[in-house]
Amino acid sequence: MAASDNVRVCVRLRPLSQKEADAGASAVVTMRGDTVRLGDQAFAFDHCFDSSDPGSAAHASQASIWETLEPSLVASAIDGFNVSLFAYGQTGSGKSFTMFGDRGDRGVVPRFCSSLFEKLARASPAKTTVAVSMLEIYNERLRDLLVPYARDAPPLRLRDAPRSGAVVEGAKIVEIGSEADLLSLMRLGSRNRTVAATAMNEKSSRAHTVVTVRLGIESDAAPDEKHRRSSTVHLVDLAGSERNQRTEASGQRLKESSHINKSLSALSNVISALTTESSTHVPLSLIHI
Ligand code: ADP
Ligand code: MG
Repeated sequence: MAASDNVRVCVRLRPLSQKEADAGASAVVTMRGDTVRLGDQAFAFDHCFDSSDPGSAAHASQASIWETLEPSLVASAIDGFNVSLFAYGQTGSGKSFTMFGDRGDRGVVPRFCSSLFEKLARASPAKTTVAVSMLEIYNERLRDLLVPYARDAPPLRLRDAPRSGAVVEGAKIVEIGSEADLLSLMRLGSRNRTVAATAMNEKSSRAHTVVTVRLGIESDAAPDEKHRRSSTVHLVDLAGSERNQRTEASGQRLKESSHINKSLSALSNVISALTTESSTHVPLSLIHI
């Protein structure tokens, strides 16, 4: 795999909100093929998903987006490759809708899960394990979303593990057997998150949400020979990337946005290391800033 194939960038355009439409707003960007046009400037992406007009024939639905992403996520994970997907953008741009979806229109995370179980059932390896953890990073502190919020709980610690990728010590990992199991974990995570956000006076979308799926596959290669493969998939709904208004950003909001900038800079260090280095492991020491 060429280094540049390691990272792909897609962009999605959401429809105008009711509020925007009521204010008489119109879209300033257009998409054609995999190019975004803004005035006389053009920006090329690996994929453009135009969801600006739900009525149009070319509308990029949750299902059509999943069709494009599925091979890189599910087939790669089953083949033993680690994959991460990040949703990046301002608050209100459609990150959570794309990642989680809503009740009637599932997003990437539940679709990943059902596709994974379907493909595993078809391949019928001797033994598989699918285990999930759900964390959030708020103000640079890692918190477990699968355990109830406790004011005095110390943040979880991240440890470098060259073979398996970074490990979050003490994170709750739950083995699941179906998409329904995942959906109930997601509900639990989002309930815990609401309690914590209220307790910490956190404004919405100021935390990164990280869903991690660890997959283990054991297959019988020969009568007394087993093959084991494992992979980790991170599905990340990043905190809003907007700059705070100078007048508004003070106290806790300023602290939140500087922490968000810090972690987004760390993410950009990882991405540039992955596209420029031949190494497939980016040590924590390289990304600390
Ligand atoms: P973010 O997580 O980036 O802050 P949300 O995913 O919460 O943004 O989206 C903001 C609002 O826009 C939500 O009400 C969501 O349902 C709606 N929305 C976002 N993307 C789409 C889309 N592609 N189609 C329809 N509604 C969308
Ligand atoms: Mg969101």
